[in-house]
Amino acid sequence: MAKLTVRDLEVTGKRVFLRVDYNVPMEEKGGRMVINDDTRIRETLPTLKLLLEKGGRLVLAAHLGRPDGKREASLSLKPVSEKLAELLGRPVQFVDQCVGEKAEAAANALKDGELLLLENVRFHAEEEENDPVFSAQLARLADVYVNDAFGAAHRAHASTCGVARILSAWGGRCAAGLLMERELKFLGDELEEPARPFVVILGGAKVSDKIKVIDRLLEKANTILIGGAMAYTFKLAHGNQTGKSLVEPEHIHTALDAESKAKELKVQFLIPSDNVVAELKDTGKLNKKGKPVFEPVNPRVNTAADIPADCEGFDIGPETAKRYAEVIAGAKTILWNGPMGMFEDPRFGEGTLAVAKAVAAATANGAKSIIGGGDSVKAINKAKLGSQVTFMSTGGGASLEFLEGTPLPGVSCLDER
Ligand code: AMP
Repeated sequence: MAKLTVRDLEVTGKRVFLRVDYNVPMEEKGGRMVINDDTRIRETLPTLKLLLEKGGRLVLAAHLGRPDGKREASLSLKPVSEKLAELLGRPVQFVDQCVGEKAEAAANALKDGELLLLENVRFHAEEEENDPVFSAQLARLADVYVNDAFGAAHRAHASTCGVARILSAWGGRCAAGLLMERELKFLGDELEEPARPFVVILGGAKVSDKIKVIDRLLEKANTILIGGAMAYTFKLAHGNQTGKSLVEPEHIHTALDAESKAKELKVQFLIPSDNVVAELKDTGKLNKKGKPVFEPVNPRVNTAADIPADCEGFDIGPETAKRYAEVIAGAKTILWNGPMGMFEDPRFGEGTLAVAKAVAAATANGAKSIIGGGDSVKAINKAKLGSQVTFMSTGGGASLEFLEGTPLPGVSCLDER
């Protein structure tokens, strides 16, 4: 996949519509909104600096939270423009509109090497509807389009693809930013011809969420390691008891089909041989939906094939963690998506931590390790191993869809090189 990137793009004197991911965590302190984590802003700096050095006039667009098409003061991007100015070391003009006369006048007044940030595009319901009129209003602000918001690229919204289609029809080029370029390289190109053995680690809650990824990666992987709650649907499919574990009985055939495909393609396909289980104690409280809340108690390792009737499985067991770590140690390419257990609770985080350590150790020995977004990235960061893997995706849903082979609207709209 050779998409045009900002390196190829001629931008001197041109207005560049730059879609970024500034959906940062914020909180109200002393009557004003404060940014808790500016990682997403920092991550765009290389793209911004390159385009500014090239003489581009940057019109930045982003969304923040879920204002559902209405203006909401707490979801304004103004604090983000202030933080960006501080990090970039130059003025960033903030425009409290994202379309219309005021936005157009500001975009037209930009000089080479200057930038502005538009107000939250989701203050307009037309953004998420990918409304063509709204997209055209956005397109009036620029000559070329750059998308650096991989995390939003699976959405067909006005700022993630509608505006690009229109600018393209008007003769403007559409390119990937540097962040987007890295995502396409690691989740795409690097996995086309992976160095072998190629080990894929898949975890998370549901088989149904990951089956398309399993199916696609069975064509490429040497080994697939299964963890997380989805492993229990495989257990159920083998005729074992799963107690109170999260299972999808309607997907037993999905699990069996994946295993027979693995056999056919000679892909090693492992599911956990032991688990950490716990009993469930009624807390006497009700959740928001009015359902009783249970708390896991008496966690212990279960080595039997069946899970006791009064228990739920919450993590892979130590034997499985050791076996998986041995497989990972022999890998040359590793792709990991989804935790091995309910890692948010430290009692059930050992399996995920063991896998994170094994991935970091394999990387130190020369393997390429790619972490596919969402909870696996959270787990790697929790283990403070973020700097010891090759690549961590910034997309959750987007990285899953990309790995499934589903075309992402925010990528499809970009020009080929
Ligand atoms: P996913 O979004 O499908 O990758 O699922 C991630 C979520 O699954 C995390 O919040 C985990 O806590 C949860 N999870 C993983 N394994 C288990 C398990 N065995 N039981 C309950 N929840 C789990």
